[in-house]
Amino acid sequence: MHPSADRRLSTLQRHLLPSSPPTSPATATSADSLQPSPTMASSSSSVFAAVPQGPEDPILGVTVAFNKDPSPVKVNLGVGAYRTEEGKPLVLNVVKRAEALLLHNQSRIKEYLPITGLADFNKLSAKLIFGADSPAIQDNRVATVQCLSGTGSLRVGGEFLARHYHERTIYIPNPTWGNHPKIFTLAGLTVRTYRYYDPATRGLDFQGLLEDLSSAPSGAIILLHACAHNPTGVDPTVDQWEQIRQLMRSKALLPFFDSAYQGFASGSLDKDAQSVRMFVADGGELLMAQSYAKNMGLYGERVGALSIVCGSSDVAVKVESQLKLVIRPMYSNPPLHGASIVATILNDRGMFDEWTKELKGMADRIISMRQQLFDALKTRGTPGDWSHIIKQIGMFTFTGLNSDQVAFMRQEFHIYMTSDGRISMAGLSSRTVPHLADAIDAAVTKLK
Ligand code: PMP
Repeated sequence: MHPSADRRLSTLQRHLLPSSPPTSPATATSADSLQPSPTMASSSSSVFAAVPQGPEDPILGVTVAFNKDPSPVKVNLGVGAYRTEEGKPLVLNVVKRAEALLLHNQSRIKEYLPITGLADFNKLSAKLIFGADSPAIQDNRVATVQCLSGTGSLRVGGEFLARHYHERTIYIPNPTWGNHPKIFTLAGLTVRTYRYYDPATRGLDFQGLLEDLSSAPSGAIILLHACAHNPTGVDPTVDQWEQIRQLMRSKALLPFFDSAYQGFASGSLDKDAQSVRMFVADGGELLMAQSYAKNMGLYGERVGALSIVCGSSDVAVKVESQLKLVIRPMYSNPPLHGASIVATILNDRGMFDEWTKELKGMADRIISMRQQLFDALKTRGTPGDWSHIIKQIGMFTFTGLNSDQVAFMRQEFHIYMTSDGRISMAGLSSRTVPHLADAIDAAVTKLK
């Protein structure tokens, strides 16, 4: 123990135990000599002393390591958060406008929202993902609740299924966002995987996917990334989605869509919702977890929605009543501010148009980073086929770099990414592309 800590303890001892028996000079300053008694509080021990140190989150831990690195050339490509060309976080102008409007509204109150959240926000969110003319919305077959961003929506959906659905197994793609297995396991579901990515082609393992879904038990829940699959950036084509849909419906597999990147993949909100809308158009049921973290840049506001498309409006009413019973003891009701921003933007034609332009700007910058990185590797003659960088879509590129190469790039070039070789294209800029290309070139040349 540090000597000053020793001194603090002996002072503490004097304060706490004025009548404690005198200690011998040899042990007077030693905290170890304290005999714990039932009435004594000691800062050297804790009822939690046996709590083991938990590991860093595999994704957020990359940022922790990045922040500790003093290098001026360091680049963080770990976390999926959009950065400008200058490497700065971006607050959309339309979000600032909406916030200014909210601030000026003197009649605005801070009362609790209902358990289900802001009603307007829920209606507009369902319209955004399913389409304004969606038959499910027109028939009142959708139960929507505001949740704590995408993560909270997945968790509430998972808990609802664990309580009220007959099949407890959820199949998630391999690989998938690292939080998925934890969310669903803690929600009370059994997690299995289906084949998704083929490292050989750095594309979709479509045959493997179909085989695994075919052998899943009838009724099983299937987690599908609506677009911009994380971490691979590999999405099925429209034709492949159609085959997936037919197979799933024929086996009564229940789709649970995760939509964390609507508008980010292609720059078009409607195009990125196409997979989901195909499943709604057939009249079948599904779950949908929506996040506004990326597409409105509202990361820390924690704003998202869970929608359950049901077979009838009667069922939707009952489902909503049960979602309330999941939410109430978990966090009672969701926060007001982020949902008010979203509702303000989605409710106003002018603001909505401004948002879609800013969203397209973000998507286009990411697409241009893909091209620049691909060109830079080609110029360097880096061994290997890097065309997957421009074929993959959304926020991430699944580079194919192995964990040794990732460690090398961190060590030698101060480039930070997750150990599976995923890089956030949104964290790159024209200034940092050459540095990344140099690092990849060195890594694949030195460590085959
Ligand atoms: N699903 C996927 C696939 C994601 O990539 C993310 C964000 N990284 C989320 C859900 C949830 O994010 P949030 O809770 O911040 O909305």
